[in-house]
Amino acid sequence: MRLPLPRLPLQLWLLGSYALVFAMPVAALLGTGALAWDLVNQTKEDLEHQGALIAMVAAERMGKPQRMNEMLAAAKQQTLSGIRITDDAGVVVASSGDGVGEDLSDDAEIRAALEGSQGLAIKPRPGAVGLRGRGLSSQSRHADVRVFVAVPITRDGEVLGAVILSRTPREEFQAFWQMAPRLWLGALLAVLSTAVLALLAGHYASRSLRSLGRASERFAAGQLADDGTSADARDSRISETAALADAMEAMAARLRARLAYISEFAGNVSHEFKTPVSSLRGTIELLRDDEAMPAEQRARFLDNALGDLDRLSRLVGGLLRLARAEEGGARETIDALALARDVAQRYANIALSGENVKLVGAREQVETALANLVENARKYGGSGVRIEVFHAPPLAGFRVIDDGPGIDPAHLPRLFERFFTTDRARGGTGLGLALVKAVAEAHGGHARVESRPGRTSFELALRAES
Ligand code: ADP
Repeated sequence: MRLPLPRLPLQLWLLGSYALVFAMPVAALLGTGALAWDLVNQTKEDLEHQGALIAMVAAERMGKPQRMNEMLAAAKQQTLSGIRITDDAGVVVASSGDGVGEDLSDDAEIRAALEGSQGLAIKPRPGAVGLRGRGLSSQSRHADVRVFVAVPITRDGEVLGAVILSRTPREEFQAFWQMAPRLWLGALLAVLSTAVLALLAGHYASRSLRSLGRASERFAAGQLADDGTSADARDSRISETAALADAMEAMAARLRARLAYISEFAGNVSHEFKTPVSSLRGTIELLRDDEAMPAEQRARFLDNALGDLDRLSRLVGGLLRLARAEEGGARETIDALALARDVAQRYANIALSGENVKLVGAREQVETALANLVENARKYGGSGVRIEVFHAPPLAGFRVIDDGPGIDPAHLPRLFERFFTTDRARGGTGLGLALVKAVAEAHGGHARVESRPGRTSFELALRAES
């Protein structure tokens, strides 16, 4: 399922998500006024505890104004609250400040206390402007509130009066507001650094993505040479982007090599096919045009045509095998000594030596490559040919050694090239060693030659089974 989200630059996404993450705890802290409300609540609890204590003592001293006033004076020293005590009609009988004789029975919190339960009121402080009608949480954000707690004074279940304590949570608020500028500064710094971080991260990420986009457009336009368009992505501080850019350039390099190979291959093939095809054409035209040609000459021409056709079909067969070898093939475990024995048995007088080692590869292709080496040794080398199985971890494979005259050093570098042959006259196609090399490389190994008069050794190395 896809969320119906807009398509935006990466920077905006990052900025948005960073801001959201930042805003949530801040909103919870400030938006709900939780901090300030907590302070009001704390004040209320304090007052309740004090009220309960005073009500206990006051129950004993009800009707004894002198002793009541002593108690209030003592309590006043211990607490910052204003304390008043009313009789059961709500008239103030004692006060830590003024107001004795005042009738408070209209106040809801006092009515509640006189009915036996605890009363609570949070009122704007006298003199505070414009607070009436605002919500509690908005009031509590200011220091201009006063918390009133009224506790019933009871004796034997009878309500004798009420203790009213009041205090503004000012001290706590002051502490909070002293901290507030620092809080705001911290929040501002956090917002700024979040924004800078989001913009920077977005900038770097989108710069490298843009660079990848440019590189892909270049590949799509067939320009596979590295012109630096993906440099930003390869230098990216985001490891996945850098890896992707590297992989894309590696892919382009492979494609480049492949294209070069294909065009060279096509050139080689058409060159190789040109001679037999034009020779065939010439022969057929001659036979068509010269009806009076003597039978003997006609037979010679026909033989030549057959020879050309043979060459063409050998070339086609060799190219097919080469293409298959370059593709690789299904891997299996190969007993190297057994395979060498199978190949050696096809010819007379081939000596065999070496270790019993297992290879990993496409058996048919490895066998064809080894057979090519043995056939060359017999064709170009001396009478003594041997196959040596070797093991040089992680590689293993075969050496085909003959005691022939050796290879002209000028030919050595070109020996494994496609269509390189010194034996064209006898039908050589120059595809035998190219196939050996292709098989070796497709198997993660190599093909090498060492040659001096009297000893030529071809090595076909593949991966040994680990
Ligand atoms: P082809 O046998 O059709 O010429 P190859 O690719 O098999 O093609 O061999 C390329 C050339 O390498 C041969 O023409 C030959 O000159 C040389 N060559 C291969 N094997 C040997 C060898 N054992 N001794 C000497 N020359 C060799």
